[in-house]
Amino acid sequence: MQLIKIDKTQNYIINTGTIAGDMEGTSGGPTNPGPLSIYLEEGRIAAITGTKDDPYRFKQPNRQTTFLDLGSLTILPPLADCHVHLALDGLDFATARRRWEQPGELHTQISTQLWDTVRHGILAVRDGGDRPGIALRYRELVASGELTGPVIRASGWALRKPRKYGSFLGRGVPAEMLDSALGQLARHGVDQIKVLVSGVVSFKEYSRVGPVQYTYEELSAIVQGARNLGLGVMAHASSDEAVALAVKAGVNTVEHGYFLSRDTLKLMAEKQVAWIPTVVPVAAQLTSLHPAPNQDNYVIAKTVDRQLAMINEARNLGVTLGVGTDSGASGVRHGYSYRQELALYRQAGLTPEEIIRCATINSARVLGLNWGRIAPGNPAAMIAVSGDPLGDINNLRNIEYVFQPV
Ligand SMILES: [Zn+2]
Repeated sequence: MQLIKIDKTQNYIINTGTIAGDMEGTSGGPTNPGPLSIYLEEGRIAAITGTKDDPYRFKQPNRQTTFLDLGSLTILPPLADCHVHLALDGLDFATARRRWEQPGELHTQISTQLWDTVRHGILAVRDGGDRPGIALRYRELVASGELTGPVIRASGWALRKPRKYGSFLGRGVPAEMLDSALGQLARHGVDQIKVLVSGVVSFKEYSRVGPVQYTYEELSAIVQGARNLGLGVMAHASSDEAVALAVKAGVNTVEHGYFLSRDTLKLMAEKQVAWIPTVVPVAAQLTSLHPAPNQDNYVIAKTVDRQLAMINEARNLGVTLGVGTDSGASGVRHGYSYRQELALYRQAGLTPEEIIRCATINSARVLGLNWGRIAPGNPAAMIAVSGDPLGDINNLRNIEYVFQPV
C-alpha cells in the first residue's frame, strides 16, 4: 500500500482502469469502466475523462503536474468507520486502560492504530468516546498534520447514568446535570454527542442486555439540547426497548442495536435514523484467544446470526446502514477488523455493491463528509484496489493506493 498525500499546490493526472465511485447510480450504474483519467486540482477532483474525451485543461497549468498510471486498478471512495474507540487497542483492555496514565506508551499505541486505519483504506472514523477524552486530543494532532491518520469525529466522553454501564466511556451524569454536561462537551468542541441508552449484550444468556439508562424524557432533552448546540447524537443501544426509546427520542444513529425488532427497523426507516450494527465485536469472541470467563459460544453464534438477519431486513426496509467496527473493543483491532465487518455484511446477504455503498457514501454521510463519491467537485479522497470489488467484496482487501487530501 502506498499513501499519497494530495497537496493543494499540485496538479495530478491519474490513469485508471475502472471507477466504482458513483454508488448513487446517477451515471446509470455503480461502475464507470475505463480507461479513465482523473484530474486533481487544489485537493479536489476537478474532472474525469475517458480516452476519447477532450483532456481536461487545468486552471493553473503552470503548476507542477504529477502523472500516475494505475493500470487496471479500480478506484473507489475511501472507507469510513462509524464507530471506533481510539483510546483502546482491541488487544488487552486492562493494559490499554493502564496506558491512559502513560502518555508515551499511549502515543505509540494510537499512532500505530491511526496508521493501521489509513493503510486499510479508512480515511475517516467516528470515535464513540473515552472517559478522559483521549480521541478528542488525537483529533487535533491529526488535523494539524502532526500525525498521519484518518479524519476523526470525536465524541469526547459519553453521557451515561451514574452507576450504570460504561464507566470507561464516560462520566455518570444525573438528569439534572445534563444541560451543563452538554455545554461542557460543546465547549471542548466535540463533533457529536455519544449517549449510552442501554448496557451491553450478554455472551452467556441469549438476548439478555444490560438495563436501559435514561428515560424517554431525559433522552429527548439530550437530543434537543444537542440539536440546540448544532450537534447530532449517536446512541449506544441494544434490546428492542432501548433502541425504540432512542429512535423515538430522535437520535441520529443507533449503535449496535442488537435484538431490535422489525417494527423498530420500520420506525428507523421512517425517521431516517442510520443503523451501525457493529457485528464484529460479537463475532470476534468466537475466535478469540482470550475468551471471556463463562462465555457460551452457542449464545454468541446465535446472537451474530440474529444480527445478520436483521441487517438483511434493514436493507429490505430501506434503513440507512453505515459500517462501524467498535475497534478497540475486546478482540477488535483498528483497521484490520473493517474487512471482517464487511465479510459479515456479505454473510448477511448484502451484495458487494450494497456493501460498498454502506462503507463509503452512507458512512461518509453519517460522519458529515461529502467524499462518498468519486465525482468532480469532491475532495480528492480515494482508494485504488486490484481486482474487482463489485464482483467479490474481499477484493477491497487489496489496497494498492490511498489518496488523502491534506
Ligand atoms: Zn463502542
